[in-house]
Amino acid sequence: MRNKLADVLIGKGITNKKVLDAIRNIPRHLFMDSSFEGHAYQDKAFPIAADQTISQPYTVAYQTELLEVKANQKILEIGTGSGYQTAILLKLNAKVFTIERQLELFKKTNIFFKKMGYRPKKMIFGDGYKGIPEEAPFDGIVVTAGAPEVPKALMSQLKIGGRLVIPVGTDEQIMTLFIRTSATEFERKELGSFRFVPLLQNKN
Ligand code: SAH
Repeated sequence: MRNKLADVLIGKGITNKKVLDAIRNIPRHLFMDSSFEGHAYQDKAFPIAADQTISQPYTVAYQTELLEVKANQKILEIGTGSGYQTAILLKLNAKVFTIERQLELFKKTNIFFKKMGYRPKKMIFGDGYKGIPEEAPFDGIVVTAGAPEVPKALMSQLKIGGRLVIPVGTDEQIMTLFIRTSATEFERKELGSFRFVPLLQNKN
């Protein structure tokens, strides 16, 4: 079933072999509620706890491909959610840092990772808008929720040459890739349109 899913993703334009191998390897059904488990290898998003969703496999593969992850790179993920994207990044041998703002999901996925032996470098309950200044700079940052605006902190926590993959917009998002070309400059590429749950800002 996972092989079939990888074939579907190839049909939709995913070409990175390591990303496809990670999709073939990670048991997506274990990241989902048992009521949806039987649909895990369809290319669809499904509900998880706290009114959130596990992203569509195509979206996960596409964002991961855009990151151009290499072994041992430091990658920051905003929106741990089910942990599926985290597991894909770990499979690519990245050092993964991940932030989730819903306590219920944070706890659930934390326990699940321990049970499964998935080891992100850091898993933080907090606000992804802030990134993790003390761990910066990152080779790559992936935001897995729709951002009404691009968080400045995330731009500043990118290495020169690093890549930020972020869906920007409210009702609908444009997948946007920023490549940091110097201390002050970024190349910006706008790619396809997607629908994500919103990147929420903490009220304080
Ligand atoms: N990568 C996850 C995507 C889950 S959906 C997966 O495939 O399962 C997006 C996640 O982003 C949700 O879990 C949501 O709670 C989280 N999120 C939303 N706003 C956030 C913020 N400001 N900081 C951190 N996480 C946030």
